[in-house]
Amino acid sequence: MDALEVLLYNKCMRKEKLQCYECKKIKPRNEFYVRNLKKYPGRDYRSSYCKVCDKAQSNERYVRYGGNYQKNYYKNNKRKVLLKHLEYRTSWRNKVINHLGGKCVKCGFMDIRALQIDHINGGGRAERKVLNYQTIGLYKKVLEDKENKYQLLCANCNWIKKVEKREVGYGNREKIIYD
Ligand SMILES: [Zn+2]
Ligand SMILES: [Zn+2]
Repeated sequence: MDALEVLLYNKCMRKEKLQCYECKKIKPRNEFYVRNLKKYPGRDYRSSYCKVCDKAQSNERYVRYGGNYQKNYYKNNKRKVLLKHLEYRTSWRNKVINHLGGKCVKCGFMDIRALQIDHINGGGRAERKVLNYQTIGLYKKVLEDKENKYQLLCANCNWIKKVEKREVGYGNREKIIYD
């Protein structure tokens, strides 16, 4: 096989044999780890490195970083990692805010920085606890929701709703006094 042939060979999906980028050996497909199961559910993408080379690489990292590869990676690439997280969270947030109409349902306020997801019939605190306070988990729930349980409120309208429902502020004291 010449180089072009190998390239075409590897490019075709679901080939029975793949060539490892590291050791250049051509091996059966199951000699390569499946990649990105979360990102591409149900699809059979394989690593560019054969299992042997993949293992060798992680062993080498283990030796070099004493089992703290991820920790060290974070330490040395803090800015990059944090930016990536920020990008990830922002893209989720934008998606959810668009999904819910992009503005406060009470007053029409549109500045995304002060828009909040509101549980129309309450129960937000309990749900956040179940989700272990993971924001992305809440975003996923909102996108999957079929019962219209969520709406967008701006920070002002959300606070006013909380006061009126006596969750915060003077309303809360009244609740303690009168309930
Ligand atoms: Zn290899
Ligand atoms: Zn509002």
